[in-house]
Amino acid sequence: MSQTNLTNQASIDLFDQYVIANYRRFPVTLQRGAGSLVWDVEGREYLDFFPGWGCNLLGHCPPRVVEAVRQQVGQLIHVPNTWYTETQGRWAKMLSNCTDFGAQAFFCNSGTEANEAAIKLARLHTPPDRYKIITFTGGFHGRTIGSLSATAQPKYHEGLGPLMAGFVYCPMGDLNAVAAAIDHATAAIMIEPIQGEGGVRIPPEGFLAGLRELADRHELLLIFDEVQTGCGRTGHWFAHQIFNVAPDIVTLAKSLCAGIAGGALLARPDVAESLRPGTHAATFGGNPIAAAAGIAMIETIEEEGLLERARQTGEYISDRLRAMAEEVDLIREIRAVGLMIGIELDIEGDPIVHDCMERGLLINCTQKTTLRLLPAMNIEPELIDRGLDIIKSALEAAQRSPVEV
Ligand SMILES: *Cc1c(COP(=O)(O)O)cnc(C)c1O
Repeated sequence: MSQTNLTNQASIDLFDQYVIANYRRFPVTLQRGAGSLVWDVEGREYLDFFPGWGCNLLGHCPPRVVEAVRQQVGQLIHVPNTWYTETQGRWAKMLSNCTDFGAQAFFCNSGTEANEAAIKLARLHTPPDRYKIITFTGGFHGRTIGSLSATAQPKYHEGLGPLMAGFVYCPMGDLNAVAAAIDHATAAIMIEPIQGEGGVRIPPEGFLAGLRELADRHELLLIFDEVQTGCGRTGHWFAHQIFNVAPDIVTLAKSLCAGIAGGALLARPDVAESLRPGTHAATFGGNPIAAAAGIAMIETIEEEGLLERARQTGEYISDRLRAMAEEVDLIREIRAVGLMIGIELDIEGDPIVHDCMERGLLINCTQKTTLRLLPAMNIEPELIDRGLDIIKSALEAAQRSPVEV
């Protein structure tokens, strides 16, 4: 087994010497997880309100996914996309059935890759003189150069220029700015239906529908990056279904395979046609293990009624947080859709995240002042209460001793 008896510090020492330090890590070595609980090598238990950075939408090691992957890995690990596998075909059908537009799938391995595929498809599908894609401030689309160029946040661009040409940034929520930005070379509009990394930012009423109208009027493709919002996170298969706005292309990753690496692009069949042999590929895309996990993910959500449960749990959490905001001065605003939850603070969030960890709860902070919770769809009610009580205690402690924050 890969597990040995290294102490926490011994693992940190290995990283210090052998792993490139491009991440800020908590000084904790995680060893094992089950549902919404996870344990470190020293046996300390944490309640996880941010399992797998949103990827573990069914919690840690969901039994049905574990079993599907175990079976698959003994039967076929990988075959190239020059062959058919029943698993990939069944997975694509199940995903298509979750959409309202008869989608066809292209499979890859991550969110940034799904967005690269969408950028290429937008250029391939529209006339050759069209190449521009409109994206939005505060958005996040990934780290490879194409997706990074689509990401309208200067802090991610530092030192990396020149970026890929053709991206035009508009303020999120400003339809007039989008209308003014469209010209003869515009191919597509690309947006997260709810910004995740941007701080759980929900677009103003009518904005996504307005983008759909503009796209139709100018024959542009509308691309929804649902890498974070998709696959049930919001209590619906896809966030665009909440807004009742049909996309031409949807990109997925993160929770797509319940924690196994996997990404996908879903497209309307007439748009999908433009991805022909030779135009695009991904060696590991749609591999049997990801496909088996993806199928098990959808089956679990359906059989356990988890979309409905996610909506109810999300409502319960945001009700409790709104009540908390009445009592705790440091909370400025609660922004939540299903199990995508942002707590906007008057102070920096990192110290709160650290204090919560000390108290046994894992959460995240994005955009400096937004605490972000992406809990599992199947989290138990008593664990929700335990975690929310910890957040409240941490905020009250910060309020009492602002100097330490
Ligand atoms: C995380 C994320 C990505 C990037 O996904 P990776 O798998 O890290 O490449 C892209 N778009 C959105 C909306 C995301 O949240």
